Amino acid sequence: MLLALVTIGEIASPASIARHVLVWRTNRKLATQRLCSAPFEPTQALMMARAEPERDLSSCRREQHPDIEENIQKVERAVMVSSDSKMWSTTYDILIVGAGIAGSSLAHALSSIPRAKPLRICLLERSLAEPDRIVGELLQPGGIALLEKLGLASCVKGIDATPAYGYCVVLDGKPVHIPYPNNRAGCGFHHGRFIQALRAKAKAAPNVEVVEATVSELIECSMTKRVLGVRATRKEENAVEKETFFADLTIVADGCFSNFRSAVMGQAGVKPEVKSHFVGVILEDANLPIPKHGTVVLVKGSGPVLLYQIAEHDTRMLVDVKAPLPSDLKGHILNNIMPQLPSALHIPVQRALENDRLRRMPNSFLPPAQQGGQHTKEGVILVGDSWNMRHPLTGGGMMCAFNDVVILRRLLADVHDFSDWKEISQLLHSWHWQRKPLAATVNILSVALYDLFGADDESLAVLRTGCFKYFERGGDCVEGPVSLLSGIIASPAVLFRHFFAVAFYSIWVMFTHSHPVSTADGKIVHVVPGWDAYPYLIIKSIQVFWTACIVFLPLMWTEVRWW
Ligand SMILES: Cc1cc2nc3c(=O)[nH]c(=O)nc-3n(C[C@H](O)[C@H](O)[C@H](O)COP(=O)(O)OP(=O)(O)OC[C@H]3O[C@@H](n4cnc5c(N)ncnc54)[C@H](O)[C@@H]3O)c2cc1C
Repeated sequence: MLLALVTIGEIASPASIARHVLVWRTNRKLATQRLCSAPFEPTQALMMARAEPERDLSSCRREQHPDIEENIQKVERAVMVSSDSKMWSTTYDILIVGAGIAGSSLAHALSSIPRAKPLRICLLERSLAEPDRIVGELLQPGGIALLEKLGLASCVKGIDATPAYGYCVVLDGKPVHIPYPNNRAGCGFHHGRFIQALRAKAKAAPNVEVVEATVSELIECSMTKRVLGVRATRKEENAVEKETFFADLTIVADGCFSNFRSAVMGQAGVKPEVKSHFVGVILEDANLPIPKHGTVVLVKGSGPVLLYQIAEHDTRMLVDVKAPLPSDLKGHILNNIMPQLPSALHIPVQRALENDRLRRMPNSFLPPAQQGGQHTKEGVILVGDSWNMRHPLTGGGMMCAFNDVVILRRLLADVHDFSDWKEISQLLHSWHWQRKPLAATVNILSVALYDLFGADDESLAVLRTGCFKYFERGGDCVEGPVSLLSGIIASPAVLFRHFFAVAFYSIWVMFTHSHPVSTADGKIVHVVPGWDAYPYLIIKSIQVFWTACIVFLPLMWTEVRWW
């Protein structure tokens, strides 16, 4: 009870709450009159709440008291605290669920907002131990620039991170070099080490409290359904009791397997689409075709294979596998994938398959739906993978998360009252559109490129060959696409131009470049199509163009839809 009174004293502005707090089912008239006229008395409000727990709040005269909902929520928090004297509770300005890429950087960023009364932030993470995952290991140059903006550039120092100067794409054993422009560099690292560095920054930030606890539910106001905070269980021995954490604003950054996505998004939510899986191992002392470059090997009959250095001696290999997953994944990689990789990688791959545990993750696509509208929950926001995911082929997830944090911090810096959902709603609308140039470019590119590189029909195979040959042309045909992929250029319009340039170039290649053809005696010869092949090629061109449209335009649509 004492705790409750302290809490109520802290959150309640006596004059405002007093006028129109709770109306009880019994003695409704009397209670309404008393509560609407008398000065606020926390003890009395709590006694009434306890005496009549099934309260009816709806009859309060909202038209006379426009701030009633806010006050109801404040009292509701106090009542919840009081309803179980064993329940611990703390109140913050902002709660963040998940200390991963988005959550840790956001906690650090928000703590630096200059305010008369600094924000009190609580960052809840289910395990503060170093994660061991196959995700988030290559940060694009655009991501490095955003990390610098957030004052977190030092997080890639002292973790044995390795610079990455671009890509090498390999098709049929032939490599094409795709350097980042202007000597820009990204970097590869062990995900866990980077996360620990981000968390250390969040922990050291003023007014950020990092709590090791698993969040199990969102606490909602029973009347307005607004989220008031969360319930969580601390990761301590014998800690079975749930604690309540209240805040004016709750931000959920609990990653790709989010438990709260559908609750927050409601009818506005979309289900993530699993495009494929990445199966990962670490190769020891592997020699990539171009050192310190991410390598993408385009494999026939399967999705692409991605390789990049994540430490001096460690190279991550991610093999894309589509559903249904082979029952013998090791056998699949050994027999179907490895023979198509550069020969210098065969021994390290064999060793890794013998010694390392194969790990896999779903590669999901989740387009961003607007938050803050009438269908989404009030008082809570989703950030990071819990809200928006793209195929990890292009390694853009962390960059998008940092971009979101940069914009959100700027917008939240001007918020006067974090419990004013109207103000937050407008801000979410601005955030949605301000993040588009980078996020939409990375989202669309990742899935479109995956469809081409993982070509599983004839038209897509034509586009894949055309895309490879487009890169071989060099100049803007390399610099444009790699600038989009790396976050150096953030423009869906430039992406549109390059994508359809690839589509038309693929058609041109079909007509003008030599193709392998098998002769009557079983030999393979390369011939340029003659006039007699043109009718067939014209029909095929229409199919290829149509395929390009159905790959790109629906993706574009997911980004431009405004509701
Ligand atoms: C296979 C794969 C490879 C990838 N590779 C790259 C890459 O190379 N480069 C790149 O930029 N992106 C990559 N990504 C994407 C990138 O990993 C994500 O975009 C990024 O990690 C998203 O950050 P997040 O903070 O939203 O989620 P996460 O980083 O996953 O953080 C979520 C956090 O929430 C915590 N949490 C979850 N539930 C609860 C709970 N109930 N209570 C408390 N805490 C909770 C988790 O423990 C975790 O710490 C890859 C993705 C995949 C699937």
